[in-house]
Amino acid sequence: MSTQDRETVPSFSELGIAPAILQAIQEAGYETPSPIQAQSIGPLLEGRDLLGQAQTGTGKTAAFSLPLLSRLDPKQKTPQLLVLTPTRELAIQVAEAMQAYSRHMKNFHVLPIYGGQSMGIQLRALQRNPQVIVGTPGRILDHIRRGKLQLEDLRSLVLDEADEMLRMGFIDDVETILQETPQNRQVALFSATMPKQIHRVAQRYLNNPVEVHIKSKTSTVDTITQRYWQVTGLHKLDALTRILEIEEFDGMIIFVRTKNSTVDLAEKLEARGYAASALNGDMNQALREKTIEKMKAGQIDILVATDVAARGLDIERMSHVVNYDIPYDTESYVHRIGRTGRAGRKGEAILFVSPREKRMLAAIEKATRQTISRMQLPSGEEIADRRVMAFKQMLSETIEAQDLSFFETLISSYHDEHMSDPVEVAAALAFLLQKDRPLVPPARTSERKNSREDRPERSERGERSAGRPERAERPPRNASPRPRHATEEGMRTFRVEVGHEHNVEPKHLVGAIANEAGLDSQLIGRITIMDDHSFVDLPDGMPKDIFQHLRKVWVNQKQLQISVAEDAGGDTSAPARKPHKMSNKPGERRSFKSKKPKPPRNKRS
Ligand code: AMP
Repeated sequence: MSTQDRETVPSFSELGIAPAILQAIQEAGYETPSPIQAQSIGPLLEGRDLLGQAQTGTGKTAAFSLPLLSRLDPKQKTPQLLVLTPTRELAIQVAEAMQAYSRHMKNFHVLPIYGGQSMGIQLRALQRNPQVIVGTPGRILDHIRRGKLQLEDLRSLVLDEADEMLRMGFIDDVETILQETPQNRQVALFSATMPKQIHRVAQRYLNNPVEVHIKSKTSTVDTITQRYWQVTGLHKLDALTRILEIEEFDGMIIFVRTKNSTVDLAEKLEARGYAASALNGDMNQALREKTIEKMKAGQIDILVATDVAARGLDIERMSHVVNYDIPYDTESYVHRIGRTGRAGRKGEAILFVSPREKRMLAAIEKATRQTISRMQLPSGEEIADRRVMAFKQMLSETIEAQDLSFFETLISSYHDEHMSDPVEVAAALAFLLQKDRPLVPPARTSERKNSREDRPERSERGERSAGRPERAERPPRNASPRPRHATEEGMRTFRVEVGHEHNVEPKHLVGAIANEAGLDSQLIGRITIMDDHSFVDLPDGMPKDIFQHLRKVWVNQKQLQISVAEDAGGDTSAPARKPHKMSNKPGERRSFKSKKPKPPRNKRS
């Protein structure tokens, strides 16, 4: 799709999506269809088969869900739509997205079915007549063979990430399932790549499909320096806050996907003291223009925008573009970063890439024929140095530009009365001035101890709140303070009996706990390494059996002996807690999976 076409992208309502679904996507803040959606929704609504080349992050889930959910017959009791996915994670993700899109549809049920879950639960759920089933091929086939899942009335079938299903050895199962479905059903096949076998499946089972793939136009943007940050441990907002502290920027535009996110993020940045404003398609023309004028005049420095709202924006002082949410396609990327480096000026582009979005990064590099270099987040130490520098500069400017005679008299009289050391008086005043924004971020000391080869990992995990200006804290006086460990909301701090003495590093703890507790490593919070022990934040509600198991896990030849931290040396702002009891409730297992060893990656579902 060219930029020209993009100007005339149809709106969701023009595409003919059912009103109940339209309402849900409006509430979710989706502003405009992504390219794959703009091209797929119409044909799928008409009942056409579709062959789509698209990867995660392009909006493909909505590309097939919105039209196919719109086509459901509320009266039919048997399954109407089946989505096959390579992994249970994707099955759950797709089912959740569909549940969200159909939240205003009455009596709607979507059922995820995957290996590893009890058959009994799935059989009971099947009796509730779900209209939509999302599952991994092995388990779906199992239900078909037992006669518990009948597909004779199926209207549509989606093969999601078909190349992954091939790679994981599911393609025979997929074909068997296809043969169990009625001749006249609609098939949509999505795949990031199109290997021969997938083409063969498409040729054999798809009927005159519409082919959709997102063209990647190349365009050179020589004057723009491009970097990316791999989203790990640290929350994107915290990463952004650090970048804002260290980057020398004049004007910045931050791209997010939804209208709601523009408002959310702009508010959060404002709360952190930045002059930021949202720019989205919900704002009327006059308000948008006013916001842009403010940006031009320097009354605001940061715009948080959606693609639509930022179309054609030409502001000279825009020195930085941050892709907070990755764009749907390479062309949007080129378009977005083109908001900086206007008229031959220099510009900086920063892209946040989560592990699942790596493919999009590769596609962007290929399309723009440029390498995007990986950036490290500024460490707490760099942030501290920057704050100290800015503080000194502020002092010099104030001494130079202000008439200080009144205050000089005041301080002189204080000095006469107290015989105090002028440096101490100045230090006290500096403390008062900076007490809500410490010059030394909280975990600087522990980080210094830790500063060796794996800085990104450590700084991302070792002091996650460093640089958060809003967390007030008594600044260290002379001597190096103890590393402090502040517990984040929704987390609980645990103590483990390995520390610097055992050469433990945050990554060792992350690896061991993620694997042994069946916990997504992203959910492991702040880690502070002390001399002979460490503190680790884990989501609240750890089941008792996992807790017992973790006590015995070995890291660097020491058993973790995990316990609930009594004193993590920190967060005075955290509410007082009752003694922690481990959970036996299944509902609290949400983030902890079974502690049984994970099956090999290519095991059948
Ligand atoms: P997917 O490629 O399906 O994994 O979608 C990636 C992300 O984009 C998901 O978080 C969706 O909620 C979001 N998304 C999909 N379509 C849109 C849209 N038209 N506008 C804004 N966000 C979207």
